[in-house]
Amino acid sequence: MKKNLIALMMLFSIAIIISAGCVDEENNTNATSSEDDLIVVVSILPQAEFVEKIAGDNVKVVVMVPPGASPHSYEPTPGQLTDLSNAEMYAMVGSGITIEDNMMSKIRDLNPDMMIVDCSEGIILDEMVVNDHGDEEEHDHADMDPHIWTSPDNAKIMVEHIYEGLVEVDPENEEVYLENKNDYIAELDELDEEIKTILSGKEGNSFMVYHPAWGYFAEQYNLTQVPVEIEGKEPSVKDMQNVIDLAREKDIKVIFVQTGFSTVSAEAIATEIDGEVVEVDPLAKNYIDNLSKVAIAFEKGLS
Ligand SMILES: [Zn+2]
Repeated sequence: MKKNLIALMMLFSIAIIISAGCVDEENNTNATSSEDDLIVVVSILPQAEFVEKIAGDNVKVVVMVPPGASPHSYEPTPGQLTDLSNAEMYAMVGSGITIEDNMMSKIRDLNPDMMIVDCSEGIILDEMVVNDHGDEEEHDHADMDPHIWTSPDNAKIMVEHIYEGLVEVDPENEEVYLENKNDYIAELDELDEEIKTILSGKEGNSFMVYHPAWGYFAEQYNLTQVPVEIEGKEPSVKDMQNVIDLAREKDIKVIFVQTGFSTVSAEAIATEIDGEVVEVDPLAKNYIDNLSKVAIAFEKGLS
């Protein structure tokens, strides 16, 4: 009797191992599919990845800021507003990105039944880094840096919030969502280890970016982000000279720009410091692969 039970348990664990091996490429086990997909709205592409990793094909994800657009200035289309009015859940970044600041009250009016998840809950916001130009007047207003998702630690918190939201709007699939979420958190932990390896020995180094989207990444890996842009504006000629001086002083040879947002001033600075402009994308959908690529690019441009 006991022997049979053990044999049965062994069979059962083999079955689990086999089925775990059959999990598809996306790393999602299939959720019970319902007739009408849940609609989940997110603000930016990395969040779409987070939702899909947890919910698989079980939800339709609508992304408010399309590829190539800026979350600091984008306005939703009428089609997006229609999707919003049918959605069960909105996962906002929550850290003060312009599209949310401008839209959330409208969105609440449009679809009062929709659950709103704040992915930034529990994440401590940093002040936006501004250039430390020697002679600059004091900034009396401290804008907070909204780019929380560029740190894998923060991404894990965002994934937990999305998971909790999904379970609330779709409790039937809780078990599947939990398993998928745990798998994805494990992948994010692996990513963190990978980035640490890529950047080992570079702690305390600086990298120069046009648009300062990488403050939380820098914080997690003990790097210093040196921004060109000042409070979302093109630098003045004087600011440019300060940035050039700073780059020379730190021996910086690379200016990172956001994919699709190449700027004349970044090119001009690169020419002055005999360096180059390299694109990195803080808004790519494929979060894990992208961040490991970014770490490799940063490693080459650190100084
Ligand atoms: Zn930004």
